[in-house]
Amino acid sequence: MEKLKGIEVITLKIVEGIAGYYFYHLSESGENGKPALCGNKEVMSTGLPLSSWGYVGHLKERYCSLCRARHWRRKNK
Ligand SMILES: [Zn+2]
Repeated sequence: MEKLKGIEVITLKIVEGIAGYYFYHLSESGENGKPALCGNKEVMSTGLPLSSWGYVGHLKERYCSLCRARHWRRKNK
């Protein structure tokens, strides 16, 4: 992961589980079929900005807690 003046540049993308139900994961590549942080490979790319992670609207979006936990742990290394 790139470091810029001591600040870690987060380049994660939001991907969506192909099982549907608006269940989202975090991925480094953001590509279809590439494993998310939690290891789930059954994902597809989305155009969602990382800033929309955690937003819950009328679609009742859900977010992978394992992806979030791993991302958080990496950030605080
Ligand atoms: Zn996940």
